[in-house]
Amino acid sequence: MRAVRLAQIGNPLKDQDILIPEIGASDVLIRVAAAGICHSDAHYRGGISKIENLPVTLGHEVAGRVEEVGSNVTHLSAGDRVGVHYLVYCGSCEFCVRGLEQFCFSGQMIGKHRDGGYAEFIKVPGANAFPLPHEIPFETGAIMMCSSATALHALNKARFKAGESIAIFGFGGLGFSALQLARAFDCGNVYVVEINPAKLASAANMGAIAIDARAADPVEQIKGATAGRGVDVALELIGSAKTMRQAVLCLGSLGRAALVGLTAESMSIFPYAELINKEAEIIGVSDHLATELPALLEFARSGKLQFSPETLRVVDLDAAQINPALDALQDSIDHVRTVIVPSSDL
Ligand SMILES: [Zn+2]
Ligand SMILES: [Zn+2]
Repeated sequence: MRAVRLAQIGNPLKDQDILIPEIGASDVLIRVAAAGICHSDAHYRGGISKIENLPVTLGHEVAGRVEEVGSNVTHLSAGDRVGVHYLVYCGSCEFCVRGLEQFCFSGQMIGKHRDGGYAEFIKVPGANAFPLPHEIPFETGAIMMCSSATALHALNKARFKAGESIAIFGFGGLGFSALQLARAFDCGNVYVVEINPAKLASAANMGAIAIDARAADPVEQIKGATAGRGVDVALELIGSAKTMRQAVLCLGSLGRAALVGLTAESMSIFPYAELINKEAEIIGVSDHLATELPALLEFARSGKLQFSPETLRVVDLDAAQINPALDALQDSIDHVRTVIVPSSDL
């Protein structure tokens, strides 16, 4: 089969012909219909996140049709449409048994520790394949399983409830999903903090209150808009110590700041005035959980989570098209996501 693989860190991905993987009793073989090209794939290629076993087929945002089912897999049959949960886990360690598989001691990321979806076929454990309702296009199903799933996990970690107000720092892929999901939770006011005029306009179009961080301190703006009260939940999706601190400072009493963006900087907090006095909380968010995916898929099936066709760009399973898409991701400022749709010439 055709696959586009990372053979050497820092070099472009390569087209390779490899064997179609053989499945075990608990696995399914999926014919890939769509694979999202993600920021983390650019980081793997560039060596910013370490990959040890090379070559490897990248691609952790995958949707397709079941081609073959292992004898122990009972919830799927050949021909079913599925989306893939990107973390392969043991199912029996102390974290897995509690449904917290992102901390599995032997967890493997698809498209990093094992071959991913930049290929015609992918093998995954049956437990990682979730039925994809026919209302959800494969392209959307693929990209949802990463950024939208993480946005939902952030809201869940922040214990976000109906009627609560929320500030979203950063309106990229995560923020785009977080706003729609907050709406699906029946939220109160949503404040989107950005510096990019196009993103501010897009957030306002989607019903959020756009907070232009270039105009004035976003914390002051949010305090002003909430009669000094602050918000119930803040999501930091940018990965900067400055916006993380702002996310904490814009909280009201009992507010929760969920930090999703990655940074190596440190952040300072004055414990009494900024945290203790308000009983505010700072919550770390990493990845998402298999148990959250059915709710996410239902939000997408019912149209509460949508990606309009103009936000998706399609390329073929071809290194000459995928490498430039990875290059472009480094300095992307829009919501357009590139998805690999393998041409079907088999
Ligand atoms: Zn991703
Ligand atoms: Zn485990």
